Amino acid sequence: MRISIKYKFVFFSAFLLFSLTIAISVFSITIDRNYIISNTREHISSVLRYFYETVINDTKENILEQGVMFSYNRKAVELIEKNDIKDLNDIFESYFNTGQFDLLFIYRDKKLIVSNKKDYGEYKMFLDGIMSWYDVDKNIVFVDGNEGLGLFVFSILPIKNDKDRTIGNIVIGTDLSNPKYTDNIYKTYHIDSSIFFKNKRINTTLSYEGRKQIGSLVDPEVAETVLGKNMTYSGQTYVTGIAYIASYLPIEGRDGKPIGILAVGTSMLSVEKVINKIILFILLFSFFMLILVITLAYLWSSFRMTKPIILVSQALKNISKRNLVIPKLVTDAKRNDEITDLYVAVNDMIKEMKEYEGKLEYAAFYDNMTKLPNKMLLFKIYSCPDYVLKNQKHCEGSDDQCECFQAEGKLGVMLYINVDDLKTVNSIFGHFIGDSLIKKIASRLKKIADRYDYFASRYGGDEFIICNNNIGKRGDILNLADEIIQEMKEPFDISGNIINTSVSIGISLCPENGKNLNQLIKNSDVAMRKAKEKGKNVYGFFNDKMMNELTNRIKMENELKQSVKDENFTVHFQPKYSMNENNITGFEALARWKNGDGEFVSPEIFIPMAERTGCIIRLGEWILRKSFEFIRNLNSKNAKNYSVSINISVAQIMQENFISLVETFMREYMISPEFVEFEITESVLIESYELVKIKIEHLRMMGIGIALDDFGKGYSSLGYLKTLPITTLKIDKIFIDDILDPGRNGNLAEDIIRIGHRMNLKIIAEGIETKEQFEMLKKYGCDIIQGYYISKALPENDLIGLLNNFNNLI
Ligand code: C2E
Ligand code: MG
Ligand code: MG
Repeated sequence: MRISIKYKFVFFSAFLLFSLTIAISVFSITIDRNYIISNTREHISSVLRYFYETVINDTKENILEQGVMFSYNRKAVELIEKNDIKDLNDIFESYFNTGQFDLLFIYRDKKLIVSNKKDYGEYKMFLDGIMSWYDVDKNIVFVDGNEGLGLFVFSILPIKNDKDRTIGNIVIGTDLSNPKYTDNIYKTYHIDSSIFFKNKRINTTLSYEGRKQIGSLVDPEVAETVLGKNMTYSGQTYVTGIAYIASYLPIEGRDGKPIGILAVGTSMLSVEKVINKIILFILLFSFFMLILVITLAYLWSSFRMTKPIILVSQALKNISKRNLVIPKLVTDAKRNDEITDLYVAVNDMIKEMKEYEGKLEYAAFYDNMTKLPNKMLLFKIYSCPDYVLKNQKHCEGSDDQCECFQAEGKLGVMLYINVDDLKTVNSIFGHFIGDSLIKKIASRLKKIADRYDYFASRYGGDEFIICNNNIGKRGDILNLADEIIQEMKEPFDISGNIINTSVSIGISLCPENGKNLNQLIKNSDVAMRKAKEKGKNVYGFFNDKMMNELTNRIKMENELKQSVKDENFTVHFQPKYSMNENNITGFEALARWKNGDGEFVSPEIFIPMAERTGCIIRLGEWILRKSFEFIRNLNSKNAKNYSVSINISVAQIMQENFISLVETFMREYMISPEFVEFEITESVLIESYELVKIKIEHLRMMGIGIALDDFGKGYSSLGYLKTLPITTLKIDKIFIDDILDPGRNGNLAEDIIRIGHRMNLKIIAEGIETKEQFEMLKKYGCDIIQGYYISKALPENDLIGLLNNFNNLI
């Protein structure tokens, strides 16, 4: 499954953040827990202190003030003095409505005379107790309480008459558990909290209406210690198995000794609730942050990572399709990271490739040696010019789709030029000179083509194509071809070597001879070959006859190949007559072939064809075997030993295993080497002189004779006769035909025979057709003759009769 890198990045960052959040949460919760607990403790103790120090003291002051204010009420003083209780009650009631207190008692002579409460039993008992020892002239304010009263602040003041005599006492009391005092605590403190009082003596916990289980907050042991040591305590306590955070404060009584404890607390459950709320908050916050980070990571990685990577990979894909487009990435100039590096690297690479593409294009479309456009460019430009112009694209379709060499309504022409005999130049002067010759030829061709506004290209080794798909009149073509032929005739000076060469040119026209490049090349090639056959250094136009010839040739080539496979050949043998022995001494093996129509085809046609198509190797081997077989049969039936001469082609002798093949056959057919002769032509030597020389020497060492065939037909270089271990010189029929015409070559045959003899060569004359020729050659001292005068080449069976009756014939 393919997962985009941005998702991986998002998953990874989310995972990291999630883990981090969990870790931080756990850590902060631990810290917060302790913080909350200690904060709670602090708060509770401060609330308690506040209550003790501020609320109680303020209340004390307030209550004292109330008493003082009452004592200044003249009417009340008068009524007390008169002991008029009934009217005093009225004043009491009105005063009570305005006062900040719960209790209002008047004592006279330490006896309660008026009270604001009807049911005051508990208070009276308590206050009577105090009155018993109380000095009526004194002001006292105190905190006290018991199970019945709860926590109270009392003030007792003297009420004086005009003569400043104490006529009674006013007692004002207020209940500290009254919400007006305690609400502040409940309000400021967000969790359950309590004030309570514990009297050591009665060991009773007070609880107040509307408050929760006040008593349960007090840990008796802690309370004991707080009271005993008169100290404050703030911390955890356990009451009936429930944990609390509480603060304990001893309350000073009238005599300055602790009379009980004030305690404020909250249960751990409440604290836990707060902690849970905080945890929930942290988790929600973390979750929110996680979502936020995932979103940001997604957006960031999409824009900063994935998008550039997609663009870069798109650019790379384009490169693989040879479309060098620089990715359009909006890069932040300040940005400096790996993605930017990658982007910059790809950019640089594309720029570099664009530069190289130019160079590569040159290398792909131009010939390195001659600097002329090559075959590729020729095709790119001319296979489909309209297409090229419109789409800037090379036509990659089939021939039919590219039938457009010709520009609209115009004529086109193609000249297929082949350098004559470049092989010969290469073998005589070496390949370096051969290459230089090609370069110079190319440069001359280019100049001419430019003058005529033609396109010149190097099509292959020694082949050039000059063409134009938009010519005006035909006259130009002839001038151009003439000029090329003339220009090439001029000798080339290459490193001091003067080389004469020529070219053969085949011309095809568009649309007459074809509309597309392939057809035109094929046809001009055919025309070029025809021109070459005509004797080189000429040009010729393509015509349909040539095409028929080509078709026939192809047909014949296929038939030949099939015949080679089927060994559908015969070998005829032409007798060789020895002038000294006046008898037939040997035979030349000559291959015979009937084509598909049952007609004999001349070896001068099918042998070069077999050489061209490569099947000469197999055919040559077969002829060799047949020739050996023939001579073994013949010699085994006769008292006399005849020799056999076998024509060998270049390709055969160049075969690596040629020598070993000959050795094998000689062993197989038990033939003595002195009865075997191989005929080679000068062309064999020109192909690869050094290698052939080694092979010839090897054959000579084996004792096999070597004849130089067709001497006089080609270069007739006497040089070969000197440097090669040739045994026989075979004078070509050309010399023999003219032997009776002393004005022309008549003497030449005589001269060759003489020179040959001087070089210890055996001389054979071939193509003797008449008695006169025979006589003449006898006169010149020719060793052996061969020709229709003696006999044509005959099948093996016919030879027996010939040999038997031969003496009668001559
Ligand atoms: P070549 O080796 O010079 O063979 C002599 C050719 O002259 C033969 O033609 C032969 O029939 C012909 N000839 C002989 N006496 C006369 C004559 O009195 N008058 C005329 N007009 N012609 C005569 P052929 O058999 O047509 O062979 C032609 C060439 O084909 C041969 O020339 C040889 O170069 C090549 N060739 C023939 N057989 C073979 C072969 O088995 N292997 C190779 N490599 N080449 C062969
Ligand atoms: Mg021959
Ligand atoms: Mg010959």
